[in-house]
Amino acid sequence: MTSKPGPILGIDLGTTNSCVAVMDGGEARVLANREGSRTTPSVVAFVGDDILVGEAARQRASKDPAATVFAAKRLIGRKFAEVEAVRRGLPYTVVAAANGDAWAEVHGRRRSPSQISAQVLAYLKDAAADALGEPVTRAIITVPAYFDDAQRQATRDAGTIAGLRVERILSEPTAAALAYGLHDRKDRPPQIVAVYDLGGGTFDVSLLELRSGAFEVLATAGDSQLGGEDFDSAVVDHIADLFQREHGVDLRSDRAALARLRDAAQRAKHELSWALATELNLPFIAAVDGQPLHLALTLTRRELERLTRPLIDRSLGPCRRVLADAGLRRDQVEEVLLVGGQTRMPAVVEAVAECFGRQPSTAHNPDEVVAIGAAIQGAVLAGELADLVLLDVVPLSIGVETQGGVFSVLIPRNTPIPTRRTETFSTSVDNQSIVHVHVLQGLREMAEDNRSIARLQLTDIPPAPRGAPQIQVRFELDADAILRVSARELLSGKEAAIVAQPASGLTRAEVQALAQEAEDARQHDLSRRAIVETRNRCETLAYACERALEGYGEGLPAAVRESVQRDVAALRGLLGDHAGARGGPELQAAFAALERSSRQIYAAMLGDAETPALLAEGSRE
Ligand code: AMP
Repeated sequence: MTSKPGPILGIDLGTTNSCVAVMDGGEARVLANREGSRTTPSVVAFVGDDILVGEAARQRASKDPAATVFAAKRLIGRKFAEVEAVRRGLPYTVVAAANGDAWAEVHGRRRSPSQISAQVLAYLKDAAADALGEPVTRAIITVPAYFDDAQRQATRDAGTIAGLRVERILSEPTAAALAYGLHDRKDRPPQIVAVYDLGGGTFDVSLLELRSGAFEVLATAGDSQLGGEDFDSAVVDHIADLFQREHGVDLRSDRAALARLRDAAQRAKHELSWALATELNLPFIAAVDGQPLHLALTLTRRELERLTRPLIDRSLGPCRRVLADAGLRRDQVEEVLLVGGQTRMPAVVEAVAECFGRQPSTAHNPDEVVAIGAAIQGAVLAGELADLVLLDVVPLSIGVETQGGVFSVLIPRNTPIPTRRTETFSTSVDNQSIVHVHVLQGLREMAEDNRSIARLQLTDIPPAPRGAPQIQVRFELDADAILRVSARELLSGKEAAIVAQPASGLTRAEVQALAQEAEDARQHDLSRRAIVETRNRCETLAYACERALEGYGEGLPAAVRESVQRDVAALRGLLGDHAGARGGPELQAAFAALERSSRQIYAAMLGDAETPALLAEGSRE
């Protein structure tokens, strides 16, 4: 008997807040945390030996900022050297780990951002188990579309540390599109969707193409230093300036007063998303000469909009940039989706509508839509929504460099992922003990014209004539577009492996430009490749004949031996000179001559006119 494998959680692990959803009876349901909130602050506070997570941790921020870690997502999977700007904005200490990664240091103890995020995930997992009344072990976790391999891996690690089996790392804009059911429109022509995501700390915008149930991220842009917190700061500064003008006291210089003011400013901002005016009341906010001072004022929506207009405008540049990068006009965008709590602000909705020339869809809560999409993806993986096809495809072919600089494709362009391919290669010189596997991505025939994505070295190959060792190269591209390349020498069992991220950060415009470039260069590339392949064939034949002469030359009739020697010398001579370098008819004629004379070796040895293959061809799986 096997037990039912429990639900797959959809987790939006946000910079500021996180959210969890699950499919329940064919509907996505957002799960409340233990405090009854549908979102949980992504904050972890260290208090003595205790670790607080969520709202309790967020409330510690003003008391002990150095021990309250928030925005771990800004550090996850990143090197210390890369996060200099981020570090300056964080009140806790960020240090370089032994491998150069950015870690947080609290109370003298170092913790990786994966460990911090794991605390948030473990809290969410336990709260979800409480809400569902059954244990949960599996999850889909979302990440920004621009996250690279290291950031995706580190997010996956966080899930694993939290005791979750991470079924997939899903891009946030793809999740949003899933929540809106766009994948159901399979029979429609390809559709372009824009996802505008303004959260607490970061902004990003993505363009997706939806084609037969498959999503492709065409372009992403954003501003990692723009979010709802900047809107709060604009309000805080405005009120603090007014207060200072009136009372001569700067509330920003008193940490406790500032924390209260920031809270009130945020609440006012939220209220002004549906009200036209709101009151701020903060009694006993400061004191002058023993006399208490109170803050009381009215803030209008119009005033909030005036204060935050520059921030909204800042988000429009990246919106225009993604259109330009993808080579699309705004009227080609058929759907605009809003993600992130800050998009509840009416002025943001208006600005986005104006920029894309289309009213955004607002059917879902913008801070829940990503988790809902992740839950839908979970149901697809669990086979609960069987009629969905959800494919990502490889935008550019992936392969390896082979003899003479040829690009040998293992995974062709537009192959749906996940996928895996295996191919057998061999050595190109005698007693070669090291094989370099150079992994590239692109559409050109020669390796040097493509983009290098990883290099792998297989060492200690036992001595053998060239062509004898069998080196099995295996490519596994998983559903998160993470590529694992392994190479194995079959005789010795020696193995080497590497992980790479193909095509990260390529916009559709770049892919199209590469495709065009490949098309333009096609004739030239094909003839270059043909030359290299002819030369490779000549090399192989000359080598095989030389070995045969060495091994069995004595036993051959003199006439056969001499004709083979003569033809080998002629071919080698041509390979070394200019005419041979062009792989022209002379070289081909010399090849044909040697091929003919080499047959006599076998005929003489075996008394048989049948010619066995000289070298085994590579095999494909
Ligand atoms: P997220 O990271 O998506 O949870 O976004 C959180 C941000 O959205 C915070 O800066 C919140 O202040 C902001 N936010 C949440 N609700 C509202 C609202 N009703 N109006 C304006 N901003 C909001």
